[in-house]
Amino acid sequence: MDVEALVEGVLAGERRAVARAISLVEDGRPELAELSAGIYGATGRAATMGLTGAPGVGKSTIAAAVVGLARGLEHRVAVLAVDPTSPYTGGALLGDRVRMQEHATDPGVFIRSMATRGHLGGMALAAPEAVRVLDAAGYDHVLVETVGVGQAEVDVAAATDTAVVVLAPGMGDAVQMAKAGILEVADIFVVNKADKEGAGDVMRGLRQMLHLGAVRDWDPPVLLTTASDGAGIDDLWEAVQAHRAWLGTSGGLAAKRRARLLREVESLAAERFRERATSALERDPGLIEDLLDRRIDPYGAASRLGSLQGEGR
Ligand code: GDP
Repeated sequence: MDVEALVEGVLAGERRAVARAISLVEDGRPELAELSAGIYGATGRAATMGLTGAPGVGKSTIAAAVVGLARGLEHRVAVLAVDPTSPYTGGALLGDRVRMQEHATDPGVFIRSMATRGHLGGMALAAPEAVRVLDAAGYDHVLVETVGVGQAEVDVAAATDTAVVVLAPGMGDAVQMAKAGILEVADIFVVNKADKEGAGDVMRGLRQMLHLGAVRDWDPPVLLTTASDGAGIDDLWEAVQAHRAWLGTSGGLAAKRRARLLREVESLAAERFRERATSALERDPGLIEDLLDRRIDPYGAASRLGSLQGEGR
């Protein structure tokens, strides 16, 4: 694979190059390191936004409406739908959504579902790199939509500048969200399906829950939307811009990015060490026998692997 040409294509915003680069991230191919090095200098411009919530709350519908709004302002937008729990998305996540398809032929919009097939460290590490690809390709906004409310989804949401958490009547409640640890990472709450009975209750339940939580510098707003007819999407957009402005003036964006990058590098390094330990273990088949026969103890064995690591790769 000609990674240099791929990097050039990404930086020029060519859709095919962007799509191939994201596949490379998904597969965790060895060329990934070169791709990352090639695009990193061109990243840091896009505003990133996460959309997290239980399946069926209306995340895709909201994403499509936000894309429509951003396009009206002539911003370029990318939507990345990630499924951290499944190695295959099969396109069921986004591509077949009618509302999204309205945007599929718009050259200012890039839509992509993503799973992790081979990336070390799974989606928590693959998603930020995919976002950087889209950032480097010149998209002004990158929306990251996740499928559910598990730990991996929370991690992915926390890796965006503005994490939007979506609830809807009858689709899981605030208690469930609290358990998933999602309340702490949310910058904005949306109660969607305001046209349905129970939306007010969801809102009250959520406000109560937030009231009990720790006081933060940023007080996450709770918004009502009816995404299917576009109601409240303007407010959501404004809340996202307000949060971004706050991040800029409070120094929060720099702090968020710093913490995020540190976590990411630490995880990447840990994955590499794990890989090397595995390969060192393969090169020392006698180690397990020595352990079983009590010629060596587990701590000593780990040290022996550590000293072997330098010899490989
Ligand atoms: P996701 O799984 O969270 O991405 O949810 P979708 O966006 O696919 O929406 C699930 C279903 O809810 C779809 O049939 C939507 O048309 C519908 N839906 C989305 N927003 C609203 C809304 O505001 N009101 C109502 N009544 N239905 C909605």
